[in-house]
Amino acid sequence: MIKKFINRLLGRKNDAARNNEPVVLGPKEHGIDPKLVSSNAIRVTQSLQEAGFKAFLVGGAVRDLLLGIKPKDFDVATNATPEQVKRLFRRAFIIGRRFQIVHVMFGQDLIEVTTFRGATADDVPKDAHGRVLRDNTFGDQHEDAVRRDFTINAMYYNPADQSVLDYHGGIPDIRSRTLRVIGVPEVRFREDPVRLLRVVRFAAKLGFTIDPATREPIKVMAPLINNVPAARVFDEMLKLLFSGHALACLQQLRKEGLHHGLLPLLDVVLEQPLGEKFVRLALGNTDERVRQGKPVSPGFLFASLLWHQVVEKWKAYEAAGEHSLPALHLAADDVLNAQTDKLALQRKIAGDMRDIWAMQPRFDRRVGKSPYKLLEHLRFRAGYDFLLLRCASGEIDEEIGEWWTEFQDADGPGRELLLARKLKKPGEKAGDAAPARKRRRKSSGTRAKTGEEGQAANPGAGGPGATND
Ligand code: ATP
Ligand code: MG
Repeated sequence: MIKKFINRLLGRKNDAARNNEPVVLGPKEHGIDPKLVSSNAIRVTQSLQEAGFKAFLVGGAVRDLLLGIKPKDFDVATNATPEQVKRLFRRAFIIGRRFQIVHVMFGQDLIEVTTFRGATADDVPKDAHGRVLRDNTFGDQHEDAVRRDFTINAMYYNPADQSVLDYHGGIPDIRSRTLRVIGVPEVRFREDPVRLLRVVRFAAKLGFTIDPATREPIKVMAPLINNVPAARVFDEMLKLLFSGHALACLQQLRKEGLHHGLLPLLDVVLEQPLGEKFVRLALGNTDERVRQGKPVSPGFLFASLLWHQVVEKWKAYEAAGEHSLPALHLAADDVLNAQTDKLALQRKIAGDMRDIWAMQPRFDRRVGKSPYKLLEHLRFRAGYDFLLLRCASGEIDEEIGEWWTEFQDADGPGRELLLARKLKKPGEKAGDAAPARKRRRKSSGTRAKTGEEGQAANPGAGGPGATND
C-alpha cells in the first residue's frame, strides 16, 4: 500500500513488474463500438480461441477503438506459436527470422498475428549505448504488456466477450489524453530510441499531452537516435510524415529538440522563411490527402522537404561558374548523398525526387517544342504540382504556374497563342529572395494546395510511404 503510494508520488504507477493482473472492463465501461472492429480480425481471434488459445486485438487498434476512431489496421496477440497460428488459416505466412510473426491474409486485408513476447532479460545483447539488439523470447501476456511502449498501446480487446484488459493504466490515460511510457522512461528510451519518435508521433496525431516524467528525458536522450539503423528511423519517419498530421508532428519534433540530426533538412529549412513556407504547404497538402484516403508519394514529399537545400547548393554551383543544368544535378547529388546516410532513402524514392527537381528548369523554357515535350514527361503532373508549390510559397512568380495551367487546358491554337505571348523575364531563379509579384488571379495559389495529381500520378504512390492507405 505504502509502496504503491510512493510509486504514485514518484510517477511510477506503471512500474512494470507489479502489473501481472490486468484491470478488466466490460463493454459498458469502455464503450467500444463493436461495429468498428474488422470482421477479419474477429475471424482470427475466434479461430484461435476455438483451437484453445488466447487471442486478443492489441496495440494501436484497441487504442483507436477506445477513442472512437476506426483503426486502419488490426494486430492480434496470442499465446499460440507462429507454427500453431499458421496451421489454423488457409492463407497465413510466417514473416521474419528473429522474431517471427504471422501474416493472415483475407483477400487484400492483412491481419498481423504476434505471439506474446517474454520479459526482457538483463543480459540481452545491447550496443555500446544500451540499445537492445536482440530480444526475441516468447512469454506470458503480462510480460507482453510490459514490453509495449505506452500505456495506451498496451491494452487487449477480446471481441468474443467484448472485454478490455488493461495492464498499465491505459484506460485512465486515454481518458485524460495522456501519453505515458510504461516503466522508467530513461530505460525504455535507451532500450529503443525509436520510441522517442513514437512519443512525438502519437502526441501530435492524437492531440495527447506527454506526461512530464515521459517528456523530461526526451531532449537529453535525443542523440541516441543516431545509433539506430537508418532503415528503422526511415520507416518511423514515413509513419510520421504520412500520419495525416505531419505538420503537427514536425512542430512537436522541433519542440522536443528531436529534429537536429534526424532530418538534417529540418535544422535549416524550418528556420528560413521561404523554406518554411514551402515545407508547410507541402506537408499541409500531404496531410489533406492522407485524411481523404488518397494515395501519397514519398518521392514528392521528400523532394519538397529537401528542395531548399538543393536550391542553396544549386546557386552555389552556379556562382562557382557551372552552367545552370549541371549545377542543379550536382546540387541534387550532394543533397541525396548527404541524406542517404541518415535516411536510407530507397533508390526508387531518390529517383523520383531527382526527376521532380530536374524538371523544374524545364518549366522556364516556354518557346518552341519544349513545353510540348515536357507535357509528355512521365512525371509531368508531379513536376507541375511541385512548380505550383514553388509559386504558392513565393519562391517564383505566380505567372509561370498560371501559364502552365493554361497551357495544359488549352487546345492546339490556344497553346500556340500562349507560346506567342510575350513573356516576362523567365521566372525568378529558384531561391531568389525577391518577393512574389502580385497575384493576377486569386485562385491560382490554391491549386497547389490540392496537389492532386502530382502525388497520385507519381509512381512513388503506393510505395512504402503509402502504407496508410
Ligand atoms: P499506428 O496506428 O500508427 O499503427 P500502433 O500503436 O499500432 O499505431 P505500430 O507501430 O503498428 O503502432 O505498433 C503496434 C504495437 O506494437 C504498438 O501499439 C505497441 O504496443 C507495440 N510497439 C510498436 N513499436 C514498439 C516499440 N518500439 N517499443 C515497444 N512497443 C512497440
Ligand atoms: Mg499499427
